[in-house]
Amino acid sequence: IVKFEGVNKAYGAMMVVKDLNLEIASGQFVTLLGPSGCGKSTTLRMLGGFEDVSGGRILVEGLDVTRLAPEKRNTNMVFQDYALFPHMTVRQNIAFGLERKRWSKAHVTERVNQLLDMLRISQFADRRPDALSGGQRQRVALGRALAPDPAVVLLDEPLAALDAKLRADVQVELKNLQQQTGKTFIFVTHDQDEALTMSDRILVMRDGRIEQDGTPREIYEKPVSRFVAEFVGETN
Ligand code: ATP
Ligand code: MG
Repeated sequence: IVKFEGVNKAYGAMMVVKDLNLEIASGQFVTLLGPSGCGKSTTLRMLGGFEDVSGGRILVEGLDVTRLAPEKRNTNMVFQDYALFPHMTVRQNIAFGLERKRWSKAHVTERVNQLLDMLRISQFADRRPDALSGGQRQRVALGRALAPDPAVVLLDEPLAALDAKLRADVQVELKNLQQQTGKTFIFVTHDQDEALTMSDRILVMRDGRIEQDGTPREIYEKPVSRFVAEFVGETN
């Protein structure tokens, strides 16, 4: 469903993503895992259309999206800081994800209600984000991203702002949501435990390249390099 063909990204003279070739199948939970600065967010942002590529092509569902605006791609992104609109209610924030749909008011309301229900935030529908906890905000951001029913959901460290207990709960919820919706989730984290528990497939990134590509089990049991072994073996 997603294909990177020789994708590069340079900031000035610095190459941060190097000749990335990658295919991601539909309906998988795929994690980009690696240390700070290795190029995870840049890769995700190029896929979502929030960053230009310096070279190569990106395809989503067979369509070359390399030069398309984010809203023209069948992808949607959840940002680390959630990027909710502070002056809008939960309901309005989620409905914003449907602005481009030109749906009737009733249709929008129906879809928003469905998401509020699925994410179990119906009771907060009329609150503004500043009156919500981190985990609740996170669910609103997820609702906004899921609203237009994108084929691919991109998540850049969406759990980073949550405390350890909540994080564990939301990990399970996210994974369930992915299975329930059957969508492709591409998830970015530098937390190896998170990657190992949640993913169908892990791409370990190092210095702008994929160092290893495999199932959590393969990555954990058969690391291809000392780098992977040390990175995945670390405990927080
Ligand atoms: P983290 O885990 O800290 O979020 P990351 O793997 O997501 O790291 P990226 O944000 O993709 O890393 O950044 C990769 C490299 O590109 C880093 O060295 C970073 O400093 C650099 N970089 C990112 N954005 C820019 C920019 N707008 N201008 C110049 N350099 C940038
Ligand atoms: Mg990042």
